Amino acid sequence: MKVKCNQCGAELKVKPNEIFFSCTYCGSSLYLDASQVSFHYYLAPKIIDGDLKLILSAFLQRKSLKQKIRIEKKEIFYFPFWLLKGGEKGIKLKLAASTAIDEIEKVVIPPAGKLNFFDPENEDIKGKKIVAPGIAYESVKKNMEDEIKKGDFSQIMLLHLPFFLCQYRYAGEKGVFTVLIDAVGGKIFANSFPHVSLEKIDSEFFWAIGITCIIFFMEGLIFKNLLVKVFVYFISAFPLYFLLQYLLRKKR
Ligand SMILES: [Zn+2]
Repeated sequence: MKVKCNQCGAELKVKPNEIFFSCTYCGSSLYLDASQVSFHYYLAPKIIDGDLKLILSAFLQRKSLKQKIRIEKKEIFYFPFWLLKGGEKGIKLKLAASTAIDEIEKVVIPPAGKLNFFDPENEDIKGKKIVAPGIAYESVKKNMEDEIKKGDFSQIMLLHLPFFLCQYRYAGEKGVFTVLIDAVGGKIFANSFPHVSLEKIDSEFFWAIGITCIIFFMEGLIFKNLLVKVFVYFISAFPLYFLLQYLLRKKR
């Protein structure tokens, strides 16, 4: 089968089952989709697996999950995205394969992130698990027809991004939890986390709830007239509501 190189236009011969290949003339890495040839890049990992425990515990602590964790398994792999580029929208990432944790579509490429041509022989990639693209660009295009028609995205490329698949245990909870950690920016993705048990929520939150109960109780004693009582409850609910909101936000 013959295809044209995106970069230099040279005609290249591709074997029937070959989807990743490079141009023998200009060296571009290319990916052959059912409908087209696109550039194929990857981003090198910035995070090493020695950092994973620290990143994960810091993340869980911000969720008030302060118990010890034990990482049982960690494995780096590359996941494919369609990178759409151009126009006012800048860049957009779309999943190029299906995954149980589809939130990873929200991964952010750092502005300084250098796109490297995907070369299976490169030491970043060699021997690592590579998820093959299973979602053709055609079907992404169909879902985004409006945006594409306006000419917002003139460039399309296939991009493999590194993630760590991390399985960990959390003290006091049964079972193993799975997270994906973006190996470039350190962002964490998961479908479920351990539960925050009540006694582990910080004491200030309990104080706030206790004070709220006392204030309402006192007001109930002081004001006998029902209308006045309702009015006073209404007025005092506001600052308490915002206090609780503030504490909740601090937890996240
Ligand atoms: Zn070429």
